[in-house]
Amino acid sequence: VNPDETQGPVAYVGATAIPGDGRLPFTDSVLLVENGRIIALGDQHTPIPDAAVRVDLTGKFVLPGLTEGHAHVSGFASEAYHPDEPGAFRAAPPLMEDLLSWGVTTVRDTGGPDLESTQGLQRHSEVWPRFFGSGPNLDGSPGGPWKGMWKTEEPSEVGDLVTAEAEGGMDFIKVYAWMTEPVLLEAIRAAHRHGLPIAGHVGYTVTAERAVELGIDALEHIRIGPELIPADRMAEYRALPFRPRDEMAAVTPWRFIDLDSAAVDRVIGKFVRAGTYLTPTLAIHESHLAPASHSPGDKNFHDDSVTGELQHDPEDDVQVARMQFDRIVEFVGRAYASGVRVVAGSDTPSPALPPGASLHRELALLVQAGLTPLQAIEAATYTPAKLLGRSHETGSLRLGNRADLVVLGADPLADITNSSAIETVLLAGRTVRTGAPLNGPA
Ligand SMILES: [Zn+2]
Repeated sequence: VNPDETQGPVAYVGATAIPGDGRLPFTDSVLLVENGRIIALGDQHTPIPDAAVRVDLTGKFVLPGLTEGHAHVSGFASEAYHPDEPGAFRAAPPLMEDLLSWGVTTVRDTGGPDLESTQGLQRHSEVWPRFFGSGPNLDGSPGGPWKGMWKTEEPSEVGDLVTAEAEGGMDFIKVYAWMTEPVLLEAIRAAHRHGLPIAGHVGYTVTAERAVELGIDALEHIRIGPELIPADRMAEYRALPFRPRDEMAAVTPWRFIDLDSAAVDRVIGKFVRAGTYLTPTLAIHESHLAPASHSPGDKNFHDDSVTGELQHDPEDDVQVARMQFDRIVEFVGRAYASGVRVVAGSDTPSPALPPGASLHRELALLVQAGLTPLQAIEAATYTPAKLLGRSHETGSLRLGNRADLVVLGADPLADITNSSAIETVLLAGRTVRTGAPLNGPA
């Protein structure tokens, strides 16, 4: 009997099951699924109903479907980006298909051009990854260059923007780099009045540290930095020439930062006490700063165009960029070890960050930062589910959760790059993909 066609329970038998929520794996497991939900998980002695269809997964590894914790799919579904191409979704379907083929069953979309694109993608959880989005980024003036941002400099106006997003069904609020502190404070208050988490690509007009003091729930990218520069290096930092993308993406503070300094301890301690979620998007930082640090010749992760804009001194680009990246990676490891909640997200899609594949690169970078493979998997399953307020229904192999599952042919705990050895992807217990991922090897 095809497990996709039975109305009764399905028993996946024999795999090593990785629960995703930090618990140790069950070897030789029994995972029971019925009506799209997980109804049992245990060892080989777990009772299997007579009516169950058995699927032998001996030698395989099963884990919760992965969450891409920082993506921008909604922009590709939008008329604002494709004014000459009327029709639904435009470039979004192949992106969602790619994500699914790489085991991504949940997308956290961190900013798009309008509410409608997000709403459209939210409605397609039967065939695509479940979609949780912020809608348009809220920003100050002049604001980020992305289409469709909602901008205000008035603290009294931002509450209405947040309300419009909440009433439009957005799953969280996202603010951007030019928002001033008084506006940010009102945005945080408004988001929390609506019961929504608020995430920030901050660090320009307001430091990440200050945003956490004001109550922001989640930090996107490593835009921490200026608050960590030692006082006696500030003059050097300020003397650096300004480059076009610095408000959004400058990582130059990292050349001055001492990871053993009290400032680093202070900031990490604040994040821990506040319960801040940090989605460091190491993959995009790598694509800017250290594009050749893996898979030499792999153009997938190389983004020359941006790298040039992000560096100050072309003559020491390579050395300084790599040093900055290495320090960022080490900072993430220290933050995690201290108790900061780290989420895996890559900032896909872009030529350097192919959808799906780039999340697996992020997992490898989190392991490079010092997380164990089990902890890295948690950063792509349970932790983002907590951030999205959905851990009671997704992100782990807990009873009652949706059976969004990935079956691997090789052990990701032995080598995190095996996370991409994907054989089967299930959405709510239904097989949506078998075989190798669509857009090639990572
Ligand atoms: Zn982003």
